[in-house]
Amino acid sequence: MRVLGIEGTAWCASAALHDTEADSTVIESDPYEPDSGGIHPREAAEHMSEAIPEVVGTVLDAAEAEYGPDAIDAVAFSRGPGLGPCLRTVGTAARSLAGALDVPLVGVNHMVAHLEIGRHESGFSNPVCLNASGANAHLLGYHDGRYRVLGETMDAGVGNAIDKFTRHVGWNHPGGPKVEAAAAEVSGDGRGPEAADLLELPYVVKGMDFSFSGISSAANDAYDDSEPVEEICFSLQEHVFGMLTEVSERALSLTGADELVLGGGVGQNDRLREMLAEMCSARGAAFHAPDPRYLRDNAGMIAVLGARMAAAGDTLEIRESRIDPNFRPDQVPVTWRDDESS
Ligand code: ATP
Repeated sequence: MRVLGIEGTAWCASAALHDTEADSTVIESDPYEPDSGGIHPREAAEHMSEAIPEVVGTVLDAAEAEYGPDAIDAVAFSRGPGLGPCLRTVGTAARSLAGALDVPLVGVNHMVAHLEIGRHESGFSNPVCLNASGANAHLLGYHDGRYRVLGETMDAGVGNAIDKFTRHVGWNHPGGPKVEAAAAEVSGDGRGPEAADLLELPYVVKGMDFSFSGISSAANDAYDDSEPVEEICFSLQEHVFGMLTEVSERALSLTGADELVLGGGVGQNDRLREMLAEMCSARGAAFHAPDPRYLRDNAGMIAVLGARMAAAGDTLEIRESRIDPNFRPDQVPVTWRDDESS
């Protein structure tokens, strides 16, 4: 089966073709990069309406050149969560394309796609998933036909919390890679992170939930108090990723799972991956972080999960295909897993 996936929940206009037989995925992306500040919803929506036809056209032309006029068996799109105006462009494009090609339409939950791409790549059967993305942060575990939210942020998404600090400092979006580079100047001097100085910042974990709003403000205050920015970046990472690692370990412990997958754009951070890998290794669990092209927003993960859903007959009629900016992962009946894991 060959599925064309379309992604556009916020900043990344992307289209992909996933071929299940070859297990190959081609991804075409056009990111929105604000000149200054964070993601501006109106600009993001304008970008989406210009870039989606381009990326879809490129993938469609390549697919038809390689496979002929019947190249596409289904069209999958991200239904949410995300910015409403961006999602509406994606939904309209997907409905039109599925109609024009006369193929089934598949509506994919973007956060479940962040999880499933890790399961697909790793071959893990029943992992706990840590989704560490821009607008979200949560732990998911499969139970009784759904991915249950085991724990989540009580306020900001993890990437957004980091980006809030970098906006204060005046760095361009996205802030995460800049914080990683600045932190490495403190910890990368051969002594390792354990020996570097750590500023005290709020560390808020309640069971398997956690909070980032206080830490962004405290990091901003430390910057205003003339603390060296590299030390703030280092300390911000150690605290934020320490919280994520603690709740991930608790989720593994309480569910009895022995596999962890990472998802989301913040998952590109080497320090976060290192902490999670160390924690998993210490408790004898397997850990998988997908390839970076599958961690940041991308249509490859939409096409891969779309193919599994289409194979399970989990397709949408046009009249029930509206987008949902607040689409939670636990609202999705998991139709494509045939295992009995609970
Ligand atoms: P969501 O998937 O929840 O809709 P999103 O659309 O914002 O979130 P993602 O692509 O998952 O998008 O993640 C983008 C976030 O990842 C940004 O906040 C960015 O700063 C962060 N990020 C990217 N690279 C790194 C890195 N190396 N270290 C830390 N954060 C990073």
